Amino acid sequence: MKKQSVYFRLVNRLSLRTIIVIPVFIILLLGSTLSYFQIKKFVTKYSGKVIATNQGRIKNHIYDHLDDYFAIPEMVNKYNAILVKNKQLNMEDEQLLGKILLNQVKSNTAIDYAYFANSDGGIVSSGLYEGTNRISYTEKLQGGAFKINEFDEEGNTFNYIKSVEFDPRKKDWYIEADEDGRSYWTEVYSGVQEPILGMSTSYPIILSSGEKIGVFGTDILLDQLAEFLKTIEITRNSVVCLVDEKGLIVASSTDEKPFKDIDGSQVRLAAVESKNAVIREGYSKIIDEGNHYFNEQIKDRIKVMGEDYYYCFSKYSYKDKIKWNLMISIPREDLIGDIELLFDDFSIIFFAVLIVILIAYILISRWIMRPITSLNSKVNEIAEDNWGVQIETHRRDEIGQLTRSFNVMSIKLRDYLLMLNNKQEELEEINTTLEEMVHERTKELELLTITDSLTNIYNKRYLMKKLEENIDTSKRYNKTFSVVIFDIDYFKKVNDTYGHIEGDFTLKEVTNFLSSSIRDDDVLGRYGGEEFMVIMPNTELNEAYIAADTYRDELSKLVIGSNNIKITISGGVAEYREDDSILDIINRADNNLYKAKESGRNKIIK
Ligand code: GH3
Ligand code: MG
Ligand code: MG
Repeated sequence: MKKQSVYFRLVNRLSLRTIIVIPVFIILLLGSTLSYFQIKKFVTKYSGKVIATNQGRIKNHIYDHLDDYFAIPEMVNKYNAILVKNKQLNMEDEQLLGKILLNQVKSNTAIDYAYFANSDGGIVSSGLYEGTNRISYTEKLQGGAFKINEFDEEGNTFNYIKSVEFDPRKKDWYIEADEDGRSYWTEVYSGVQEPILGMSTSYPIILSSGEKIGVFGTDILLDQLAEFLKTIEITRNSVVCLVDEKGLIVASSTDEKPFKDIDGSQVRLAAVESKNAVIREGYSKIIDEGNHYFNEQIKDRIKVMGEDYYYCFSKYSYKDKIKWNLMISIPREDLIGDIELLFDDFSIIFFAVLIVILIAYILISRWIMRPITSLNSKVNEIAEDNWGVQIETHRRDEIGQLTRSFNVMSIKLRDYLLMLNNKQEELEEINTTLEEMVHERTKELELLTITDSLTNIYNKRYLMKKLEENIDTSKRYNKTFSVVIFDIDYFKKVNDTYGHIEGDFTLKEVTNFLSSSIRDDDVLGRYGGEEFMVIMPNTELNEAYIAADTYRDELSKLVIGSNNIKITISGGVAEYREDDSILDIINRADNNLYKAKESGRNKIIK
């Protein structure tokens, strides 16, 4: 036999059910676990990318907005300066200039005030004050009293309020723009009347001759930035915050005002003082770490109040004049939370489906295996001689066919076996009869071999065998026996006189006589033609002689057949002597018989 490989030796030990179920179970489990972790890895990686992309997109969006926000007031100043240079603006009429400036304020929501000042100390300033239009100026744009006037919506009516002393030439925005010859931006400052942050930008008017004739300026309010930051839809709990170079909050997407109250006055709020933990912790963290984050874009994850936040700090710069810091913080939960929830749902569905598949598979395997198991047990029953067992089935598939074939086979097998059994019984009966017949026949044959056919008494062969037995018995038990040989006298004459048939009849009659005369233990046989022998066990010579002589005497008186035949017999008797052979004892009896014949016949000699 070929040696089996380890694989087959292992597989052959397993049941069919195990072979069907286990590999599929392992494949499903491995496959699903691998897919689960692959998907989870992908989700995490993808979420990180989504957050980074989002932060980048939001940052660019804010930067674009800030660029526009700062460009508009700058452009208004420059536009006005160009008009002056091209003499398209009447610089004598302060009221007309005031109206133009007011229109500019009204058409740009970010601009709060627009103004012009010249080297004479003349100034015109237009803007909105507590909901009303104001145009304030010095007469003929000369230095002197700065008249503050209210201006109605429809027409040109000025309502004079008051005059104040104001020299623009001493203001930063004037000096810096005038000296620098370029756009100037102030730092962030708190509004005078209400706690609103603002900034101013100014631009000098330099004629082609190089003469500097004045400065245009605009004030912008920064509260609109906070409104803008709030409109950026990132995620529910995301926080965006703008901080200036001093670390003070400019605007944030939270509801917190960028001010704190100190002794009744509103003071600007530092990012690290914010009540919003995301802003406070984020900025504390980067400041703690050496403030280096202010100089480069950073992306980091920080834990705030047990929540994971993705932070993005970046440095915003407007033409190197405004340098702020932008913080975008997105809680991990907001972005990945939904994905993770989705993933959890997906996982539950995934594993539920897996379990359903497994259960279905186990049921299917049972559905396949049950009939096979039942088939197997029924085959075993047949093996245990329970022939003709049937399996109930309603299935129409291959297993159903197999089951039906099995049922037919089982019935046929039973019928064959019953038939075989019957045949065997018949055969056994015949055999018994045959054996009996053979036995009887054998007996008959045996009897035939030891019987003389004419007289039906024992023949010479049997007599020899009996003699042998008697010698053995006598030797072993120290007993004796005697033998008599009879011979009919002048039998030839009977034949000659009456014929052979009568001779035969005579022989039978003599036999009948001797047969009925001898004792039970004696054995009578036909020794030769008309010679008989009687073996007499446990009989001494004299006893034998007496018996033999009695037979002789009675026979001589017998009249035989219709011819009234009369015969005599002569006999020789011999008793067993120690160490006699068969021949020894026969010879002695024969000699005595001879002597009886010699001495006249019809006598017994011992
Ligand atoms: P004895 O013995 O007195 O000397 O004379 P006997 O005539 O009997 O002796 P013998 O031996 O000469 O003859 C024996 C005869 O017995 C010869 C034979 O014809 C006859 N005989 C032997 N067997 C049978 C037999 O089976 N049937 C018939 N009918 N005759 C037989
Ligand atoms: Mg004779
Ligand atoms: Mg004779």
